[in-house]
Amino acid sequence: MHAETATTEPTPAPGEADHVALALANSTYLLPKHGRADLLASPASTRAWLAAVGLAPADADVRELCASRLRELRTHVRALLEAGVDDRPAAPASLDAVNAALTSVPAALLLQYDEESRWHRAAAHPVTQLVDRALAVIAADLADLLAGPDGRLVARCGAPSCERLLLRTHARRTWCSVRCGDRVRAARSYARRSLESDSAPATS
Ligand SMILES: [Zn+2]
Repeated sequence: MHAETATTEPTPAPGEADHVALALANSTYLLPKHGRADLLASPASTRAWLAAVGLAPADADVRELCASRLRELRTHVRALLEAGVDDRPAAPASLDAVNAALTSVPAALLLQYDEESRWHRAAAHPVTQLVDRALAVIAADLADLLAGPDGRLVARCGAPSCERLLLRTHARRTWCSVRCGDRVRAARSYARRSLESDSAPATS
C-alpha cells in the first residue's frame, strides 16, 4: 500500500487535464472512511481551484457568491456527464443551466487593441467577469466533450464508494487513480485470503 494518507486530495483522474468540465465534476469526492470532500467549499479553496485549472489568477477576488455559482454549475455538469455515462436522456434543467453559462459571456478571449499593448487577446472585463468567464469556459468544454468523439469515453471509476469520473482513453482503464486501483486490489486479496483460510483444513 502507498504511504499516502486517505485525507489528501486524489491525483487528477485521467482526462481532467484536458477537460476542465471533468475536473469540475470531480471537485467533490468521497474519501474512504472520511466522508465527502469539496474543493469548492469556501471562497479561498474555490480561488485555489480556479487558479489550479488556469481560470483565475492566484490573487483573484473570489467571493462566496462565485463559489456557490461554481458549485451550482458543477451539479448540472455532473448530471449531464452521468446521464452520458448511464445512457440516460439529459435533464432539461441541466441543459438550460449549462447553455446559460455558455452564452452569458464569450468563452473565447476577445481580440483587443490599444496604443500601448497593440493587438492582444483578453477578457472584456477581467475582474467583474472573472467567474462568468470561468463558467462559460467550463460549459464550452463540457459541450465539446459530450458532443465530441471523447463523449463516449466518459466513465465512472470502478472502485466501490468512488464516484469520480474519468476518460477511458484505453479499454483497460478502470480506476480514476492509483489509490482506487490499490484499494480494490487490496480488498480482493483480503477477500481471497479469508476465503482460503475458511476453506483450509484445520491444522494444529
Ligand atoms: Zn476512483
